[in-house]
Amino acid sequence: MSICNMKKLLEIAKNENKAIGAFSVGNMEMIIGAIKASEEKNVPIILQIAEARLKHSPLEYIGPMMVNSAKNAKTEICVHFDHGTTFENIERALNMGFSSVMFDGSLYNLNENIEKTNYVLEIAKKYDASVEAELGVVGGNEGGNVDHNICYTNPDEVKQFLKHCSVDALAVAIGNSHGNYKKEPNLRFDILKEIFEQNSVPLVLHGGTGISFSDFRKAINNGIRKINIATSSFDALTYSAKEYFEQESNFNYFSLNEIIVNGVYKNIKKHIEVFENKELI
Ligand code: 13P
Repeated sequence: MSICNMKKLLEIAKNENKAIGAFSVGNMEMIIGAIKASEEKNVPIILQIAEARLKHSPLEYIGPMMVNSAKNAKTEICVHFDHGTTFENIERALNMGFSSVMFDGSLYNLNENIEKTNYVLEIAKKYDASVEAELGVVGGNEGGNVDHNICYTNPDEVKQFLKHCSVDALAVAIGNSHGNYKKEPNLRFDILKEIFEQNSVPLVLHGGTGISFSDFRKAINNGIRKINIATSSFDALTYSAKEYFEQESNFNYFSLNEIIVNGVYKNIKKHIEVFENKELI
């Protein structure tokens, strides 16, 4: 198998009424855990890193690892640059071989978002890479310093946006938020349904951590084709390390490596199974 762009995977997801898991990674162990889960389930995934995470995982280190792991995987893997806000970083990722990028223009007004997303579409075309955009504002923060308030996606704006911007995927804000939810998320399925019924673009659900499995299924049945999971994988890694240090007095890096790979792998595998949207498990 090989690295592939996101458009191809989202078409498969649409035909099979399922979602592709987009799993954020920050180091080699997370990449190994993610690829292991994908290969074991024989299901393609998206490996991603958000621009705001580059201060802990510099692109020149993590980027080539992501791209090479995808090229060597037994399943199809898309390598995606998440929440890109600068053209410079988006181009750096594309030059490294990322097969997909997100331009997050959600804080601009509609016209500016359209204009800047079109510019990214032009760049990405040269690399045969896919482009994801965002309308409305997903809550919380993706490794940045500012906590954003949720601003629901306006279905009328989606139609206008898509008329001027042929993106491969569109992230929507329906009450979803990055990070651990402070209280049970209350997703606005009425908004999602309206957007889904009026447009054919594959929709993306950010802020997957903490959303119930039944809400994932409901979201998939209303057009969500890509679901982003970050915090729960970072937490799985951290808590499995904590447990290891608590239980093991003779600790060493090599055992720790296996423990954290396994923590991430189990979290990703569980989500892949739900996103397949098959029989209840
Ligand atoms: P979580 O950290 O809430 O899982 O969100 C991930 C995400 O949406 C990445 O863009």
